[in-house]
Amino acid sequence: LAEPPRPPIPAPPPTGFDVEAVRREFPQLHREVNGRPLIWLDNAATTLKPRQVAEAVAEHYTSGSSNVHRGAHALARQATEQYEGGRAAAARLLGAPGPEQIVFVRGATEGVNLVAQSWGRANLGLGDEILVSAAEHHSNLVPWQLIAAERRARVRPIPLLPDGQLDRDAYRDLLGSRTRLVALTHAANVLGTVPPVAEMTALAHRYGARVLVDGAQAVSHFPVDVSALDADFYVFSGHKIFAPTGIGVLYGKRELLEAMPPWQGGGNMIESVRFEGNTYAPVPHRLEAGTGHIAGVAGLRAALDFLAGLDRQAAARHEEQLTAYAMSALAGVPGIRLIGTAPGKIGVLTFLLAGTDPAELARSLDLQGIAVRAGHHCAQPALRSFGVAAAVRASLALYNTVQEVDALVAAVRS
Ligand code: PLP
Repeated sequence: LAEPPRPPIPAPPPTGFDVEAVRREFPQLHREVNGRPLIWLDNAATTLKPRQVAEAVAEHYTSGSSNVHRGAHALARQATEQYEGGRAAAARLLGAPGPEQIVFVRGATEGVNLVAQSWGRANLGLGDEILVSAAEHHSNLVPWQLIAAERRARVRPIPLLPDGQLDRDAYRDLLGSRTRLVALTHAANVLGTVPPVAEMTALAHRYGARVLVDGAQAVSHFPVDVSALDADFYVFSGHKIFAPTGIGVLYGKRELLEAMPPWQGGGNMIESVRFEGNTYAPVPHRLEAGTGHIAGVAGLRAALDFLAGLDRQAAARHEEQLTAYAMSALAGVPGIRLIGTAPGKIGVLTFLLAGTDPAELARSLDLQGIAVRAGHHCAQPALRSFGVAAAVRASLALYNTVQEVDALVAAVRS
């Protein structure tokens, strides 16, 4: 492309967020793809990692390798302190009352499955209802369908409004004495919608229902406080918040975690084992069978330390402005259809271009060094609500810039 034509909208005003300083911490932002500087707009699939995260993982494997909780030697103590420090950092990120309410899992998917298989099996029965928003990623729907089939419970969708907001009137009508659980996204991966989780949770609680919030797309974009939300469970994946893959977090209210039966059995989760019967370790260890992803926790801790060192309000303002700018700029492209236009949405820009196959469009953007995703984005019911099977998704993170958005818009236009 020649110099991209600037969309006829003003660039956002400065937010006080030093995006160039942040970009310097992310080595992958400075590589080329297909002979062009990489423009990473696939952040909803996974975020890039700051140098500190790669260094923390390397440090674990090059000098700190040890199992945790299992040795009487210095490196085991050090690894345990590192691991439990990661748990405390995750508790601080979420505003959780204590680190024992943080269960390490592989990711958001495993967190939801753990709750469905443990809490769900113990608490769901014939005719009980699970309300799941139609905006959910499959990982906050399919685990509920599986346990519902087993327990003869029923999954009911909370429908969407035309801009991608959840239909709150329909939600009120769906809630009832049979509702046991509400599964809600904190930021939808294909629509970007940020539902009023605190308000919806308060309503669910009036019926005695529990609420699981999927924060996979939320945690990297804005500060989260599970106590203020009054969420019963909250899950996220490390790799979507600048940390390694294979590590994630399940937060739960203390009394709920303590009442949950073990999900998987093995080492670490046990106090005493006899053929006659076992006693299990206190939470969170009771729900963490086997050796965890120790290097992953080291990386997660480094990512959360990195984030804690930023002005998160300024970062959120930067992303909000960039999102508004990108939405207006894309809306000006002839033939474009934007999907998910709810106010306050995160920087997930999902669109179709008339006469163009989404996969083909993503491939031609790739040739220009622009990484986006095309397909159903593991949210088929959400796209189906808009009569669509597949779309292109460009997703922003705090390190993206106005120039990158301009390049995307120019490339889509061309
Ligand atoms: N929830 C949302 C909203 C997501 O966007 C994703 C991943 O894209 C997930 C859950 C699942 O995350 P993971 O595959 O890391 O478990």
